[in-house]
Amino acid sequence: MEMQTEPTTAQHAVAANLSMVTRLIDIASERAERADRPCLVAVSKRQPDDRINAALDAGHRVFGENRVQEAQQRWSERRAMHDDLRLHLIGALQTNKAAEAVALFDVIEVIDRPKLARALAAEMQKANRQLDCYIQVNTGEEAQKSGVMPDDLDTLLDICRGECRLRITGLMCIPPVEEEPAMHFALLRSMAERHGLAELSMGMSGDFEDAIALGATSVRVGSAIFGARDTV
Ligand SMILES: *Cc1c(COP(=O)(O)O)cnc(C)c1O
Repeated sequence: MEMQTEPTTAQHAVAANLSMVTRLIDIASERAERADRPCLVAVSKRQPDDRINAALDAGHRVFGENRVQEAQQRWSERRAMHDDLRLHLIGALQTNKAAEAVALFDVIEVIDRPKLARALAAEMQKANRQLDCYIQVNTGEEAQKSGVMPDDLDTLLDICRGECRLRITGLMCIPPVEEEPAMHFALLRSMAERHGLAELSMGMSGDFEDAIALGATSVRVGSAIFGARDTV
């Protein structure tokens, strides 16, 4: 039997989806008259290996993961093969995983409480590794969701910048599923402007074009690139 060297259908699809999403990002950026292109964070959580490898083969290097342990399994070895990888942590982080998160990721998007800020600051100092950090804001003020409440952002930011000396460069939000995302994107942008923060992580597969129109500097796109995820 002959070895299969042709890319599989799934690999073809990932490459095609990546270029389509990139094109849509370009169009949305032109429409918003933005010279800078937002960064595309390809969300690879719960996706099979062949799809991840297809994205890497297509030259993509920026990925988002929501769980530390899963990300370690997926990226530790690949990281050694691609020194230009940039990994974003986009899911809730427990303080007891802070050391592992600091060792693996390049950007932590989910700081939402002083205890976590302090744990990350301590680990970054130990590892002598200063990561870019975003604060996640719970713009919908949903009880079950992570993210700092909008009213508590100023205090948290003071702690992060002052006591913790974290490099806070942006804000991130996940709008409530049943609400119009645009008002949440606009709210996040106004908070970032008020605090002089340059990075805005907002927009997913269903709404990244709206997010770009409202100033997103990075969008987190999973299923539109990789297809449906494994459940759990
Ligand atoms: C899963 C996830 C995404 C990607 O969602 P899609 O709808 O598949 O694009 C983006 N952001 C966060 C925080 C996620 O957990």
